[in-house]
Amino acid sequence: MSDNDSTTPAFETLAVRAGQVRSAEAEHSEPIFPTSSYVFENAAAAAARFSGEDPGNIYSRFTNPTVRTFEERLAVLEQGERCVATASGMAAIYATCAGLLKSGDHIVSSRSIFGSTTLLFTNFLHKFGIETSFVEQGKLPGWEAAIRPETRLLFLETPSNPLTEVADIAALAELAHTHDCLLVVDNCFCTPALQRPLLLGADIVIHSATKYLDGQGRCVGGAVVGSEAVVGQDVYGFLRTCGPTMSPFNAWVFLKGLETLPIRMRAHCESALQLAGWLQEQSAVSRVYYPGLTSHPQHELASRQQSGYGGIVAFEVDGGRPAAWKLIDAVQICSITANLGDTRTTITHPATTTHGRLTPEQQQEAGISDGLIRISVGLENIDDLRADLARGLPR
Ligand SMILES: *Cc1c(COP(=O)(O)O)cnc(C)c1O
Repeated sequence: MSDNDSTTPAFETLAVRAGQVRSAEAEHSEPIFPTSSYVFENAAAAAARFSGEDPGNIYSRFTNPTVRTFEERLAVLEQGERCVATASGMAAIYATCAGLLKSGDHIVSSRSIFGSTTLLFTNFLHKFGIETSFVEQGKLPGWEAAIRPETRLLFLETPSNPLTEVADIAALAELAHTHDCLLVVDNCFCTPALQRPLLLGADIVIHSATKYLDGQGRCVGGAVVGSEAVVGQDVYGFLRTCGPTMSPFNAWVFLKGLETLPIRMRAHCESALQLAGWLQEQSAVSRVYYPGLTSHPQHELASRQQSGYGGIVAFEVDGGRPAAWKLIDAVQICSITANLGDTRTTITHPATTTHGRLTPEQQQEAGISDGLIRISVGLENIDDLRADLARGLPR
């Protein structure tokens, strides 16, 4: 990236290079700055820093060079003006809501969202006078009907967890803007390597960096990306004062993760498509959910909106919970864990884990059946994965 080169580097190049500022030590790889505070030349310099007149480091709750490098790289990859990093994906969603909303405001959310996000809306934001209406993700008229004069945010994940429902981001952005609302997209499943919601009209992108951005199951973290006015002021303002900040060590791990994000996502997509196709052929599997299959109801939309179909596959086995647990208990390679977006393939029974705190009615509304299994397809050899899942399927 020389100064006189006006062409924008490609995504893979930015994933490796963007945001890095070398220190006086001329290090090649990014350093970690494990410092809580910073020193000032003199009293006047400290005053200028605190007043905001001189931008720079003050205290690592809100200014840390390693965290900033991660924020700048992710902002570039999502093509947003500003990113703020948070302690977790849930902290990113909470910071967005707490920074932008006040008592009396209203959210319209897809029903098909991460279990903890549902609980954040219904149990915690509710306590502070912020109401949420849940709608079916794929039905635009339902979204419109749920919007009230006090609605401020439309919230969704696409593809959704665990059923990989795909929502039309451009159409929802238009609806949001017609009603003076902001569209918030949790881009956890696709990452910017496969989908860039801001380019489709969304206002805010949420990440659980815990998943694919790290990609190796090591750290918990999150991020919010959007405009300078919304994310740089309102969300950053909340984070700066209230403190659910990302640690420098975690930011460094996520930076390493971003460097390999495009090649990892390509490999995840390739294996997931093969596995989904194979699952579809198994007689004990009644349904496979994967946007890359032509049988997926929004396959065409996913093809338009995403540059790959992702690494998450869900499927239903005949025989409900006993059959699902039998399959899960038979695996020898896949990890039985609720995490996703790892090099290691993970297998989960959503009804009794990630979505286990939902009431039976909420589970039914979300389409989480007892026979449903979610797989986050890792980077192991695809033949080994097929053989591993075949162990628990009836022959
Ligand atoms: C995991 C996850 C979150 C929450 O992220 P944490 O880092 O675990 O707090 C939010 N949204 C989606 C889609 C997730 O998968």
